[in-house]
Amino acid sequence: MKNLFRGLVASLCFATSVQPALASTDYPPAIWNPAASCNYSARTASVSHVTVHTTQGSYAGSISWFQNCSAGVSAHYVIRSSDGQVTQMVREADKAWHVGNSNGYTVGIEHEGYIANPSAWYTTAMYNASAALTRDILASRSLSQKVYDGSAGWSAVPSDSLYNVKGHVNYASQSHTDPGSGWDWPRYKSLVAGGSGGTTTTTWPLVQYGNTGERVRTIQYLLQQWGYALTVNASFDTATQNAVKNFQSSHGLGADGIVGNATWPVLVILTQQGDAGAKVRAVQSQLNESGAGIAVDGAFGPATATAVKNFQTSKGLSADGVVGDNTWNKMAW
Ligand SMILES: [Zn+2]
Repeated sequence: MKNLFRGLVASLCFATSVQPALASTDYPPAIWNPAASCNYSARTASVSHVTVHTTQGSYAGSISWFQNCSAGVSAHYVIRSSDGQVTQMVREADKAWHVGNSNGYTVGIEHEGYIANPSAWYTTAMYNASAALTRDILASRSLSQKVYDGSAGWSAVPSDSLYNVKGHVNYASQSHTDPGSGWDWPRYKSLVAGGSGGTTTTTWPLVQYGNTGERVRTIQYLLQQWGYALTVNASFDTATQNAVKNFQSSHGLGADGIVGNATWPVLVILTQQGDAGAKVRAVQSQLNESGAGIAVDGAFGPATATAVKNFQTSKGLSADGVVGDNTWNKMAW
């Protein structure tokens, strides 16, 4: 949602009516405060995706707006910036109107704030509350977590098949730009994956200063892909440690310079045929460790795809040729 409040702020900022704190049945931590039925409709497709929005207005104002038939829009959930309070306004079984052509198969989460001022509005409390909600939406449908990692840029439009949690701007044929350049996708992805209460825990190797070998080389290539200038020498040296610390600081992680369970999921980048660059070299070099015998040229062509599929099969993963979290994890070990 964006700019819905232009000209309406005055009329919406009146009395805060006392709302009954009814519990949501879809997500018990949320308050149930329904939208006007004129602002949503019945679903015609099953839920497969989540859409991340920014309200461009206040929490209370957004809730009021979705209860006003003049809106013609709605979202399933609205989250308050200050403390992460979650209000559900449309049942997940119904189709809220928040992302145009993609309304039918998505659950929409509105985050209180303004895309022009992310540091003021995108609080830790809100990230945490939103990530827990998204984790629940996916887990309750046995959907795998494919949270956008931001690697293609904040306004990219990656295909729905690659990611099932994306921003409004990341869906096709949208005019809105929320949640904007200030939404921390690697952080969000990590929170969705790592929160307590998750049913699956992926364990990553602990890699730190003084270590050598292929997994160090992978970390160095990935840091290069994220824009850090360092030499890929398979030795976890001071330059690598400093780059890791800088990467951790810029993604809300504790800057201890150690790559473990918290840092690996944020560091790895989904890599597939057609991609190029250091992340592809990381994949190719890893595949050669497993005997693939392919060129480490940074270009993900058919030979690399075949080698990825063979690797996936050998590790009991589905052989889709796409290097996502699970494949990176098996490579890292
Ligand atoms: Zn939006």
